[in-house]
Amino acid sequence: MSNVIYLDNASTTKLNANVLEKMSPYLTEVYGNANSTHFLGRQAVKGLDDARDTVAKLINADANEIYFTSGGTEGDNWALRGFSAVRGNKNKIVVSSIEHSAMLETLKDLELLGVKVVKIKPNKNGVVSVEDFAREIDNDTFLVALMLANNETGVIQPVKEVFEIAKKFGAYTFTDAVQYIPYFNVNVKELNADMISCSAHKFEGPKGVGFTYIKNGVKIGSIITGGHQERARRAGTSNVAGVIGLATALKLSRETLETDYNYVLSLRNAFIEKTLKNIDIASVNGTLDNRLPGNANILFKGISGEALLFNLDLNGVCASLGAACSAGSIDPSKTLIEMGLSEKDAKSSIRFTFSRHNTFEEVDKVVNLLVSLVEKLK
Ligand code: PLP
Repeated sequence: MSNVIYLDNASTTKLNANVLEKMSPYLTEVYGNANSTHFLGRQAVKGLDDARDTVAKLINADANEIYFTSGGTEGDNWALRGFSAVRGNKNKIVVSSIEHSAMLETLKDLELLGVKVVKIKPNKNGVVSVEDFAREIDNDTFLVALMLANNETGVIQPVKEVFEIAKKFGAYTFTDAVQYIPYFNVNVKELNADMISCSAHKFEGPKGVGFTYIKNGVKIGSIITGGHQERARRAGTSNVAGVIGLATALKLSRETLETDYNYVLSLRNAFIEKTLKNIDIASVNGTLDNRLPGNANILFKGISGEALLFNLDLNGVCASLGAACSAGSIDPSKTLIEMGLSEKDAKSSIRFTFSRHNTFEEVDKVVNLLVSLVEKLK
C-alpha cells in the first residue's frame, strides 16, 4: 500500500499504532464484561473509568458528563431524538442546513412526528449567520443545533455565538464536533453547549466508537435502552477496547495538536496554491479564512467529478466527492448545494483532506496528476 496517497482524512483516519498497542490487551487479556463483578470485569471497569477521566479532562468536563457511544452518528441521533422526547410544550428545532446526514436524515423522522424543523442556510462562503439563527430562535424552540466544522468544506461555524442566543430562550444546545475536535481543543465550559458528539476514527482512533458530552443536570431521553450501562443512559455492553483506543487517540492528538495543525495547514495551502496556479478551471469552495487546516474542497469547472475521482483512484489517490456516507451514489454534496452551487458545479467538486502523514512530495505528485487528468477530461 506504499503507493497510496490518502487524501480522505475527513472520511476516516489511519489508526495510530500506539493506540492499537494500548487497545490490544483489552481484546485478548482483559476481555471481561465491564458489568461483571469478577476481577476481569473489574479490570475492564478500571480501563473504562480511566478513559472517561482522560476524555473529561481534555475537554474540561466532569467524568460523569462523558458517555461512550458507537460514534458520531449515534451522538447526533441521540441529541435530536433524545431532546425531542423531553420537549414538553415546545416544538421547534433550529438547525443549520449543512449538518451531517446523521442529523438531516434524523430530522426527517422528527418532522413526521410533528416537530417543526427550521433549517438555516449558509452564505456562499459556507458559513451560517448568527443573525439568521437569532431571527428563528424563539420561546417555542427546544433545541438549537449547529456543527462546529462542516465535513465537506471544513468551514468553521459560529457555534458559541448562536448558542448564547439559544440560552436566552432556554433552548437546549447541541454541537456535532466530529470534524472539529481532531484539530482544536474543545472547552465545554466556554461553548454554551449542553451536548457534544465526537467520533474516535477522525483522530486516529478506532472506528465504531465515540463519546458524547452531556452537561450535568441536562434532561434527555435515551435512544438505546436495555441494561444500565453509561449511568443508565446508554445501554449495551461497553466497547472497552474501543473506548481505551478513543481516549488514547484523543490524548495523543492533544500532545501534537499545534505542530500537526501547522504542518497540515501548510500542506493544504501548498496544494491549493499549486492547483489554482496550474489549473485555470479550478477554484476553492468555501472560505479559507476560518476552516479546518486539512480541507481543500475544489471545483474543477466543467469536469465530471466522478470521472476525476475514478481516475485519481486508478492512480492510487484517495479523495472524495463529498461525505463518505454518500459514496457509491452520485448525489452532489448537500453542503455545496446549500451554499448556492449549481448541481453541475457540485458534481464537479472534489474534497481533498490532508493529515500529518501526508508529505509535500505527495502534494506535488497529486497536483501534477490533476493537471494531466483535467486536460484529458476537459
Ligand atoms: N458528523 C460529522 C460532521 C461527520 O463528519 C461524521 C462522519 O463522517 C459523522 C457525524 C458520523 O460519525 P461516525 O462515522 O462516527 O458515525
